[in-house]
Amino acid sequence: MTIIELHKKFPSQKDALRHLENVRWPEGKVICPFCQSNRITKMKSELRYHCNKENRTFSVRAKTIFEDSRLDIRSWFFAVALMLNAKKGISANQLKRDLGITYKTAWYCLMRIRCALADQVNFLQGIVQIDEAFLGGKPQKDNFGTTIQKSKRGRGTLKNKILVMVEQKKGGKSIAKLMPNLTSETLLTALKKYIKKDLSILVTDKYKGYSKLDDYFNHITINHSKQFSKGKISINKAENFIGLLKRGLVGQYHKLSAKYLPFYLSEFTFRYNNSLDKNSFSKAIELSVNKGKCMLRYKCNTNNHVEICQL
Ligand SMILES: [Zn+2]
Repeated sequence: MTIIELHKKFPSQKDALRHLENVRWPEGKVICPFCQSNRITKMKSELRYHCNKENRTFSVRAKTIFEDSRLDIRSWFFAVALMLNAKKGISANQLKRDLGITYKTAWYCLMRIRCALADQVNFLQGIVQIDEAFLGGKPQKDNFGTTIQKSKRGRGTLKNKILVMVEQKKGGKSIAKLMPNLTSETLLTALKKYIKKDLSILVTDKYKGYSKLDDYFNHITINHSKQFSKGKISINKAENFIGLLKRGLVGQYHKLSAKYLPFYLSEFTFRYNNSLDKNSFSKAIELSVNKGKCMLRYKCNTNNHVEICQL
């Protein structure tokens, strides 16, 4: 949705709130988000409700990513649209300037939206291209400021390791995960989780970490020193995804820590996976309402990968 369309569709704060109510309670049946009771009284103050069972009041924002935020819903909608329209992502500094809000508000707003967009695609199938990306992370320094461990290039690097999986077909989906390491065991565990074994062919380059895949998956290896594709099979889409991710993350988000990487990955994969969908804005708003409050937490399973938690 363009900014002009958004402005026309939601000319006032009330229009935006009403829209949110329609998304959350499609048949107009308001349900208490805390106890699921339908014994609700509409209050005199606009768009607030009273739960008669628990004797508490709430609005459509309760238990959504919009809870506990002073930012008005219309600005939230603009933030969602700006994020989805920005191919390389939008930084908190940019959103701050676009909406005239503080950096802190902009940062939380974007993080919560990323949280809502997370984990929309749970598995891939067909011809699936696999590649890894290395992002951020500086060489370690000792107390005197001398570099003690220089970050190597390539797979031995101290940078954050990201596994990227992309379906080769047109409109194919993607999944990207922050990985603790890229050993063959870790890679196999992640790929088993996200790729349907019987319906898929995996395409990778010659990295030895992929050697164990042959026992479990249909697996095609492309030797980049000799060829870039085997017929129509390549890892170009995975490489393009990584290119976009690098240009976006390095250009927009200067201080990139592993802690928040899963949130950025959810933003990039959602945008990639919905790039042909004209209703991606509505989809994002639905997720913002229905996925529950975002807690900005994540868990790291050392044998697997880092995930955003929903509490
Ligand atoms: Zn209640």
